[in-house]
Amino acid sequence: MLSESIVIVGGGHAAAQLCASLVELGQGANIHLVCEEDVLPYQRPPLSKAFFKKADESIQMIKAQAWFDQHGIQVHLANPAIHLNPVKKELQLRSGLTLPYGKLVLATGTRARTLPAIPQGTENVHFLRTAKDAQALRDQFSHLSSFTLIGGGFIGLELAATFNALGKKVTVLEVAPRLLARSISPHLSEHVLQTHLSAGVDIRMQSKIKGFEFEGHRLTRIELETGHLDTECVLVGIGAVAEEALALQAGLTCSQGVVVDESLRTSDPHIWAIGDCTRFPYHANGESLRLESIQNANDQARIVAQNLCGQASKYQPTPWFWSEQGAMRLQMVGLFEPELTQVMRQGANAQSFSLFHYKHDTLQCVETVNSPMDHMMAKKMFEQKVSPPPTQVSDPNVPLKSLVA
Ligand SMILES: Cc1cc2nc3c(=O)[nH]c(=O)nc-3n(C[C@H](O)[C@H](O)[C@H](O)COP(=O)(O)OP(=O)(O)OC[C@H]3O[C@@H](n4cnc5c(N)ncnc54)[C@H](O)[C@@H]3O)c2cc1C
Repeated sequence: MLSESIVIVGGGHAAAQLCASLVELGQGANIHLVCEEDVLPYQRPPLSKAFFKKADESIQMIKAQAWFDQHGIQVHLANPAIHLNPVKKELQLRSGLTLPYGKLVLATGTRARTLPAIPQGTENVHFLRTAKDAQALRDQFSHLSSFTLIGGGFIGLELAATFNALGKKVTVLEVAPRLLARSISPHLSEHVLQTHLSAGVDIRMQSKIKGFEFEGHRLTRIELETGHLDTECVLVGIGAVAEEALALQAGLTCSQGVVVDESLRTSDPHIWAIGDCTRFPYHANGESLRLESIQNANDQARIVAQNLCGQASKYQPTPWFWSEQGAMRLQMVGLFEPELTQVMRQGANAQSFSLFHYKHDTLQCVETVNSPMDHMMAKKMFEQKVSPPPTQVSDPNVPLKSLVA
């Protein structure tokens, strides 16, 4: 059992997984979990999907209070950390409580990027990061017939599909020439666009916003370069920024994310960081990376748990991600980058296929649409570091299973 206390800041996926991994490694006592939100860690992905399908759908806790109690983990809800003193090794919470620590882990995630031209508190403008955000949107949902989504990112498109399927008129304003351009290939962008359009979502690409009109505390009209759009309710989904305020205040190195080394240690030897808030060295291209995904949050938490327990471990991930947009299940393994050679493998129907992307002869990224088996096989290829010949991958008669050990 560790004698010095471990303080974890942040009550999201990474923090919850870290608690679970520490318990698995026999370390439960002497852990403090400091949460800004007033609920225990919960699953965020359903907030843009299942949560709106049923008015009484509740949020899904990752672990129950009884689990934390059973393992002696002290949870501080609705009590954000406000000051970190790495010299004294103390963390101060909003309530005035000061927690001394032996080791501290930052798992503070991200916050939604805002638009300065929209005043805070505008009644019909929403963001979606937390259960509270989702609840506020769902409270208004049944009274509204139309929604405008600013930004065609993953969360925006998931919501667009969910709301459209529930009979709402949805307009998506995307400034870029293609959807999800930083994360997926042009071929997949086009497929996603066409799928949403044919389902009835009004997606307007290259929509440049010139300004907003308000009536009282409501945003009523969006001025575009090409005209204007009257709106009932707006959801801003223009990405997220790392929540690094505490790290910056403590003098830790940050660069659009808390900078960590391969063991996920920050510039202070007693402080680690995990999940969406971290910028870590990415072994595959020698650059640094910040990822927003469940895989990244959970895997980083497991690595830090090992390091805290004296088992030196490095984070060398194969990133993978999924997004459910209506009937479209997208799954990615590896990272897409421009100028890769694309090989397509057709699935059972036009709505299912996989794209294998190669750099020279090496597999860099596999994108699958409604092809979960291909995704599983692709993950194995990355784990086993095998790059099957494109001719075999593209042949639907060659089972992918036969190409991995
Ligand atoms: C609507 C939605 C849908 C998503 N869908 C998917 C999906 O389909 N697939 C996927 O892979 N990923 C998805 N994600 C992303 C995924 O949820 C995140 O990558 C994951 O939650 C990151 O975990 P984290 O612990 O780093 O951050 P978070 O889960 O965001 O948790 C961070 C926590 O830290 C708290 N915090 C911040 N500052 C402080 C402080 N000073 N003191 C105390 N607490 C603090 C925050 O309040 C928050 O609770 C989705 C995210 C959202 C919002």
